[in-house]
Amino acid sequence: HLPRIAVVGRPNVGKSTLFNRLAGKPLAIVDDRPGVTRDRREARGRLGDLPLLLIDTAGYDDSEKDGLDAEMRTQTEMAIHDADLCLLLIDARAGVTPLDVVFADVIRRSGKPVLLLANKCEGKAGESGLIDAFELGMGEPIAFSAAHGAGIGDLYDAVVHTL
Ligand code: GDP
Ligand code: MG
Repeated sequence: HLPRIAVVGRPNVGKSTLFNRLAGKPLAIVDDRPGVTRDRREARGRLGDLPLLLIDTAGYDDSEKDGLDAEMRTQTEMAIHDADLCLLLIDARAGVTPLDVVFADVIRRSGKPVLLLANKCEGKAGESGLIDAFELGMGEPIAFSAAHGAGIGDLYDAVVHTL
């Protein structure tokens, strides 16, 4: 079967932007308001010559206990459960936040393979966040820019090595 790749992380880190880049078309809504991707989305995509099944998720805010966030959490956990590989995104411009640690823990508990992407790394603004990302204990972060395509080659190498 096609390798299933879940794109995971807190709101606004660039999950839908990455999803659309790998899908090759704008299927997921990109928005700078947190939590805009309400439903779980799947699409075929490719990374270089590697065909994939992508699963976009809405990042949840663990501090809110209303029904929608519980739903978002369930969907994220289902996506991780179904995945062969998780891509955990952080916003390197924001550094590592407590919610990033929550997502890292959810993935760790799942036992699924994970690659850490320090997104928004184009330019100098992401440099310190890239170093901070080692704190998450998920190995060496890949310096990435979903908006500009930087780091795609490194991501390809890591995915091929991991699957
Ligand atoms: P999601 O909530 O994690 O799905 O994040 P989105 O893909 O909707 O993106 C949130 C915001 O971050 C949008 O304004 C995007 O244009 C912006 N964004 C996404 N990727 C990048 C990137 O690589 N660099 C920069 N500077 N902004 C990005
Ligand atoms: Mg989204």
